[in-house]
Amino acid sequence: MTEPVNVTVTGAAGQIGYALLFRIAAGEMLGADTPVRLRLLEIPQAVAAAEGTAMELDDCAFPTLAGVDIFDDPVKAFDDVNVALLVGARPRGAGMERADLLEANGGIFGPQGRAINDGAASDVRVLVVGNPANTNALIAASNAPDVPATRFTAMTRLDHNRALSQVSARTGTPVADIRRLTIWGNHSASQYPDLFHAEVGGRPGAEVAADTAWLTDDFIPTVAKRGAAIIQARGASSAASAANAAIAHVRDWAHGTPEGDWTSAGVWSSGEYGVPEGLVSSFPVTSDGSGEWKIVEGLEIDEFSRARIDASVAELAEEREAVRSLGLV
Ligand code: NDP
Repeated sequence: MTEPVNVTVTGAAGQIGYALLFRIAAGEMLGADTPVRLRLLEIPQAVAAAEGTAMELDDCAFPTLAGVDIFDDPVKAFDDVNVALLVGARPRGAGMERADLLEANGGIFGPQGRAINDGAASDVRVLVVGNPANTNALIAASNAPDVPATRFTAMTRLDHNRALSQVSARTGTPVADIRRLTIWGNHSASQYPDLFHAEVGGRPGAEVAADTAWLTDDFIPTVAKRGAAIIQARGASSAASAANAAIAHVRDWAHGTPEGDWTSAGVWSSGEYGVPEGLVSSFPVTSDGSGEWKIVEGLEIDEFSRARIDASVAELAEEREAVRSLGLV
């Protein structure tokens, strides 16, 4: 039998964790032939709730689930981890300044980065979901000097999927026939969903984007503010769609993106498209199944896109400055 893959999920007792764990255990992330051992990390107050989730996981009797362990210590939770999903984060409280939020998250993602550095398996892959995801990934990567920085990624796949769905609804094209959409920049309201390189039912995305009123007043803000709209409608933040996106991100990273298509992920910049080196920014990316994301290079960026990419990247650079001045990276 194949050796189980160790998958650590932080914030396991939260909403996203509850939507995520059962699908990972069922084999939807790494495949029906790959057994997984789940390692759940929670803060001490939430360990009892995580135990309840673990009981339900047991009760599913998933053939692919090789075991569930629960921890409140990151050093133990990340020991020998192959895939780490960093979901738990400090939410922005009422009246909390951005610097306070970044500092609180530095206290979570710094130690987690160090624990990954010291204990993870040599093939570890990390996806940060907890917000501010890009900068949390940067903090974790900066605290793991022995792990290649390219192994730390931030989730923009939900934004990507939201963009797909909006284009599908607008054009009547099935999502399966829409390819090469891109989310650029930060997973925040400044993100830029780019249609100009897409293909929509065989048509160039630029034709769809030619309706600039729809593009600027509807499509871009709808994608960027979708999370807030869901909170307003549901009375709770998106959880199932975020979990679905996390699974898709890791699945494509491990098994590859479809030929002729790409997806979006927050990855370590080496200076591509003028994004300063060492920022974790969303780019168009492919994977060939060898477990490395590759940034799609050589796309022509027009003035409209350039201004929006630059604005979102400037926000990432500001966040980096803020965590630098706090000594977190
Ligand atoms: P959720 O499970 O709903 O969300 C977890 C994180 O994911 C938040 O930072 C949230 O950001 C982020 N997120 C990213 N993308 C999305 C999206 N599209 N929609 C919604 N959320 C998104 O939070 P809960 O409060 O239910 O659970 C968090 C859990 O984490 C708690 O059980 C808590 O105890 C735990 N925790 C664990 C830590 C650890 O393991 N060391 C540290 C801190 C917390 P946003 O806040 O912006 O919505």
